[in-house]
Amino acid sequence: VQEQLQKLAHLPTRTEDGRQMHLAANISSVKELELVMKNGASGVGLFRTEFLYMDRSSFPEEEEQFAVYREVAERLGGKPVVIRTLDVGGDKHLDYLALPEEENPSLGYRAIRIMLDRTDLFKTQLRAILRASHYGSVKILYPMISSLDELRRANEVLEEAKKELADEGTPFRSDIEVGIMIELPAAVMISDLLAQKVDFFSIGTNDLVQYVLAVDRMNETVAHLYDPFHPSVLRMLKITADHAHKHGTHISVCGELAGDVRALPIWIALGITDLSMSVQSILKVKNSLLQSRHSDGEKIWEELAGCASSAEVVTVLTKYLETDI
Ligand code: PEP
Ligand code: MG
Repeated sequence: VQEQLQKLAHLPTRTEDGRQMHLAANISSVKELELVMKNGASGVGLFRTEFLYMDRSSFPEEEEQFAVYREVAERLGGKPVVIRTLDVGGDKHLDYLALPEEENPSLGYRAIRIMLDRTDLFKTQLRAILRASHYGSVKILYPMISSLDELRRANEVLEEAKKELADEGTPFRSDIEVGIMIELPAAVMISDLLAQKVDFFSIGTNDLVQYVLAVDRMNETVAHLYDPFHPSVLRMLKITADHAHKHGTHISVCGELAGDVRALPIWIALGITDLSMSVQSILKVKNSLLQSRHSDGEKIWEELAGCASSAEVVTVLTKYLETDI
């Protein structure tokens, strides 16, 4: 099967009726790039930078980060890489960053919330990303955005970083694209407003499902309630996609659901043509995509919108799924 799938790597990524889609890879290190290319990914849709900060005793300096981001940008040879700013806290800890003990870490001090306090760390990372933007197609992604105010404050630090680099005469792309993760219900519900302030959305279904359903994604006891096919999740996705399309804001999905073959009819129904997933999923999703019909989109949504349970959702999805091989 793997051999048959491998043959798909070089085919164009189009539905049976000719709609182009983009299947990018989620990575956390340079090591993964070889597989990214081998599987014919359209680029890196999510570079989780946390791992650069882990298993060490102090924060990585700007130079070290720059070298990594630059290498990724260069090795992709012009294909885009979306670099997400540090998303620690919650389930991810750094030995050298003292964070408060929290009763509910997922609802606590994490990601952009930390970086907007520690603007020194934030600016160092943004400078490194900006510098790398000179060497390829680099985009910036902020995690855990819940409000326009957080976005504005993050962009202020970005502007400071740009100004410093410009004053120093260090090259960077001044028109670098900036996007946000849509992974909080709050962001979904104001996605019409956010869409007007960013270049792109990347939906993080892992956290979105956790927060929509109030199910801690790390908690085994409630793991059976963690249900990406819950109709409430579908509706959140629909709201976000409609707002993005209305405002001409680019939209992609980078949570685990993007790499779940069963979800492909959802993206077709919502008119989402960009997905980013673990590299092992790309060819499996592509296999299904090549046999799907973009023109089924409206019909699929009509059926999904009428579903009252995740079991019904899965039944509808299965009907539209072709998975030869
Ligand atoms: C997500 O929340 O869906 C996501 C892609 O980010 P992470 O899994 O790193 O929180
Ligand atoms: Mg997340």
